[in-house]
Amino acid sequence: MTNIIELNELCKLYAMSTSQVKVLHNLNLHVKPKEKVAIIGPSGSGKTTLLLTLTGLETPTSGDVIISGKSLTGRDGDARADLRKQHIGIVFQSFHLIPSLTARENVALPVEISGGKNSRQLATAMLDKVGLGDRHDHYPAQLSGGEQQRVAIARALIHGPELIVADEPTGNLDEATGEHIMQLLFDLNRDSGTTLLLVTHDNELAKRCDRTLRLHDGRLDPLASNSTEAVQ
Ligand code: ADP
Ligand code: MG
Repeated sequence: MTNIIELNELCKLYAMSTSQVKVLHNLNLHVKPKEKVAIIGPSGSGKTTLLLTLTGLETPTSGDVIISGKSLTGRDGDARADLRKQHIGIVFQSFHLIPSLTARENVALPVEISGGKNSRQLATAMLDKVGLGDRHDHYPAQLSGGEQQRVAIARALIHGPELIVADEPTGNLDEATGEHIMQLLFDLNRDSGTTLLLVTHDNELAKRCDRTLRLHDGRLDPLASNSTEAVQ
């Protein structure tokens, strides 16, 4: 079976005016379709950089990113965006909602961009699913952090991606709402075979994945999924 994510010897340096920040260092990761993988690691260890690089939003300094058998290497920004649209739903740590669009318009956007039909109805149904049935017409600034996070999750799920990549998807949610969102993600995995790659500080969320990897010194080390090691 083709891996849905394949990262080979991935390196990512950020060049600063007087120095370089080496974030990812010969990192390897192979994820099979339908797998649920948690990534943990302290703040600043490179988790967000890893997600941005594997989704083609940052280019690696060296190494290969292959998504569903398609290499990102040598593809320009538009081609990488097409690949994202086809395969990946992304939940960003900082949400990246468009301030001038309502919750419903933000969620409908991926469908509209790819020329799909019924974007309004689909967005309405997806907002209901994440428990925001009464916030359709709110703008991001009129929503709490947790509500914005759920809009971002609804937007990532709306086009039924085969891979969901999420940066601390329950980070801003209270326990009950976080549990509801986790259940939504795991139901998608079980019912539609959606692959999940979740960066998390939440031990309970990590434990429910098939495996947990720890980002350390620019690489991923395996951890047992039921590890009790403190997640920082
Ligand atoms: P995490 O998500 O694990 O907290 P990040 O991936 O955000 O970590 O950051 C990893 C390291 O890379 C940090 O030391 C951060 O300061 C640095 N970094 C992140 N983005 C940039 C950037 N655009 N330019 C320079 N350094 C960056
Ligand atoms: Mg981060």
